[in-house]
Amino acid sequence: VAKQAGKNRYHLFDAEQDRMVRGHHETQERIRQGLAGNEFVLHYQPKVNMRTGQVLGAEALLRWQHPQKGLLPPAEFLPAIDNHALGIQLGEWVLDTALAQISQWRSLGLHVPVSVNIDAIQFGQSTFLDKLRATLAAHPALQSGDLELEVLETSALEDIRQLSDIMLACRDLGVGFALDDFGTGYSSLTYLKQLPAQVLKIDQSFVRDMLDDPEDLAILEGVLGLATAFQRNAIAEGVETLAHGELLLQMGCEWAQGYAIARPMPAAAIPEWLARWQPPPEWAHCAEVRRD
Ligand code: C2E
Ligand code: MG
Ligand code: MG
Ligand code: MG
Repeated sequence: VAKQAGKNRYHLFDAEQDRMVRGHHETQERIRQGLAGNEFVLHYQPKVNMRTGQVLGAEALLRWQHPQKGLLPPAEFLPAIDNHALGIQLGEWVLDTALAQISQWRSLGLHVPVSVNIDAIQFGQSTFLDKLRATLAAHPALQSGDLELEVLETSALEDIRQLSDIMLACRDLGVGFALDDFGTGYSSLTYLKQLPAQVLKIDQSFVRDMLDDPEDLAILEGVLGLATAFQRNAIAEGVETLAHGELLLQMGCEWAQGYAIARPMPAAAIPEWLARWQPPPEWAHCAEVRRD
């Protein structure tokens, strides 16, 4: 009987997986068409120093302007191309588009360094560095420090040695690295020692809950301590409210990104945002408290 039940479960799982694979297959086909039809866009979310008000740059976040479904966030379509060659193609489009955007801002006299999220599958390619060099060369207005790559801490799991080599080569190209969603992986400490990434992006789950969950607060403090010890910069993501910013500033974390500062926006909205943004007055006080 147990065997029978197990077998049924297996069939059920099988059917479900089947549906999912078929769904992914359709999405892949649509993504291919979407790329050809220019349906993808990048939105940009500013990163700032909450104490000084300095704008550090902006993160490029992929969106799909789907003709029927409207503007889709990555969670709606990236899973369908997980570990798929299309991920490479889409990633190349993102990089090229972001670099063109930096150049365009430069032509307006604006200096906005951009961070681009890179999928592990792109790093896995032996041609990654050559392609990056070629893409950089295609945008001659760029300067060292204009581009940062964000890599998921968890994707370092694949081949830490290879990733470390890539990071060092990128450093020579003037391209920085950030470990995204830091703290969610299994061996953050080992990675930190082996990976020459200058920036740790503290995962938004810890930031979101730090006001009411002492354990999340402790993790946050731990990551900030690590960043100091390893001489890396920490940036908090998911700073949703003034209260989040206040507490972070009191803890000595000045770099942040989140809805309390700005939501991701179309590239065209960035110049006006830059002209207007100032840190909320509430934050000036916190920084003073900490600095005595
Ligand atoms: P991520 O790189 O960790 O990006 C941060 C995500 O948090 C973004 O979601 C952003 O819109 C959202 N966010 C920012 N501030 C706040 C806040 O205060 N509160 C909350 N609740 N959320 C906030 P988004 O744009 O939906 O992107 C989700 C993930 O998709 C990204 O996480 C990144 O891993 C991936 N992704 C986005 N663009 C790309 C891309 O071009 N290539 C690749 N490979 N992955 C991308
Ligand atoms: Mg990111
Ligand atoms: Mg993140
Ligand atoms: Mg994330």
